Amino acid sequence: MADPSTQLSDQSIPERAVKKAEVFKEPPTPKCVMAISAHPDDQEFTVAGTLAKWARAGSEIVTVCITSGDAGSNEKTDPDMAKHKLAHIREEEQRNACRVLGIAHVEFLHYPDGTLQPTLELRRDLTRVIRKYKPEVVVCGDPTVRFYGNSYMNHPDHRVAADVALDAVFPSAGTRFIFPELLAEGFEPHEVRKVFVHGSEKGETYIDISAVLDVKIAALKEHRSQLGDWDPSEMLRDWAKDEGKERGLDAAESFRVMILKEDEEKSNA
Ligand SMILES: [Zn+2]
Repeated sequence: MADPSTQLSDQSIPERAVKKAEVFKEPPTPKCVMAISAHPDDQEFTVAGTLAKWARAGSEIVTVCITSGDAGSNEKTDPDMAKHKLAHIREEEQRNACRVLGIAHVEFLHYPDGTLQPTLELRRDLTRVIRKYKPEVVVCGDPTVRFYGNSYMNHPDHRVAADVALDAVFPSAGTRFIFPELLAEGFEPHEVRKVFVHGSEKGETYIDISAVLDVKIAALKEHRSQLGDWDPSEMLRDWAKDEGKERGLDAAESFRVMILKEDEEKSNA
């Protein structure tokens, strides 16, 4: 791997030369964070350690769930279960998981599970919640990853959720004349400073989650309708250990971090 200090600024972007992130230092705790996922439990499998850590350090966190997980899973879902009933159960489970993590706000957008499309309607709905809560950091998946290893094809809802989340962050949330109907509803433009993209092949920013790994596991266990009697502890521990290896950490989550706007302290310096 190349020495990061020798990596050049990306000056191939004509609008502006973007400085490389300081990839080996753990970023400061953001004041307000929004984590956007397709399904209840996505957040707990992926970024819950980071969210738990930030919540304990004082971040205000909003979880946005685009669907209510009403398609369930073939293995764990009773085929006689009504979809609306399952949606209700899974929303409760997501709220409980957020409580464990220390997340106060949970928003469901009630899109249908399994058939999510990258529509302008969804982009507007995500733009609305971003403008409502004004997060400094948005956490979402990586829409460019189609395959993980040789046995998991990224769920189409995950790709769509990530794609539209990024489109809502830029340019919609910060641009006054995109979705003018949101202005009429009272939602002024808001510029998100950073995007933490999880599940990325270019994840170079590591968050040490050793102190909160148990919290992440406890939060995932709240999704009882999906886990059945399977205990996910060992798998989550293995994942966190694997992620941490690269930086000599016992447990970590990694992100590709996009810096759209420098921190205030930095830009004033
Ligand atoms: Zn999912």
